[in-house]
Amino acid sequence: MTQASAPHHLPILEVFQFPCLDDNYGYLIRDREAGICASVDTPSAAAVEAALAETGWKLDFIFNTHHHEDHTGGNLELKARTGCRIVGPRADAARIPGIDQQVGEGDVVTLGRHRARVLDTPGHTRGHIVYVFDEDQAVFVGDTLFSMGCGRLFEGTPEQMWISLQKLRRLPDPMRVFCAHEYTQKNAHFAIGLEPDNADLRERVAEVDQLRELDMPTVPSTIGRERLTNPFLRPDSPELQATLGLRGASLIEVFAETRRRRNEF
Ligand code: ZN
Ligand code: FE
Repeated sequence: MTQASAPHHLPILEVFQFPCLDDNYGYLIRDREAGICASVDTPSAAAVEAALAETGWKLDFIFNTHHHEDHTGGNLELKARTGCRIVGPRADAARIPGIDQQVGEGDVVTLGRHRARVLDTPGHTRGHIVYVFDEDQAVFVGDTLFSMGCGRLFEGTPEQMWISLQKLRRLPDPMRVFCAHEYTQKNAHFAIGLEPDNADLRERVAEVDQLRELDMPTVPSTIGRERLTNPFLRPDSPELQATLGLRGASLIEVFAETRRRRNEF
């Protein structure tokens, strides 16, 4: 076997994805050479522990995206058992159990040799953040972006969420999107009603239906695919605007109406 030896060779960021609770995904990520591992959020301590047992990985960090119980519920128990260090949003530090390191837009978090840029993405909650591993082409988006969907606006305005989503929309096409819930099929059926002539979307709906019938995950997606099929990233689509009766409206208006309709779908 040949070993890559280029000076800038970056080892693969290992990602172990596991379903838990009703429809959450948990993620363990690891720098194999350094043997350093993080759990992105902690939907449940038991589920994260089971994933650690299955992989044989040792937990060093928790990278939280936002304060909701299905993202931080396992924080304290896992910290007590492993001594891991908890990284989370500065803007919401008071609601992140056990937080050790507060981060926000522009900060860089490291996992061994892997680096993640932090982006503030308020909207779902006021202190939501995402972790962008540029070199690894992976972004962990929590409940800001879903496959063909986006988070509900519990603590933010459409304007805030649209600004947050634009930060994600600007990421490169191949970047893998790891979201925290398997909401894809319902999102897909909502999306196709808004853009029935979107060929990329039709293809994806068929694919998603097939995957779900086999009980397989539809996550991760990629930024490129989301840009082509996610109505919340497409307020500039003429077909979407026409369906909503908002031809030529501002992108924020179109986004807000799309979000409002999804709440009632
Ligand atoms: Zn949430
Ligand atoms: Fe959630």
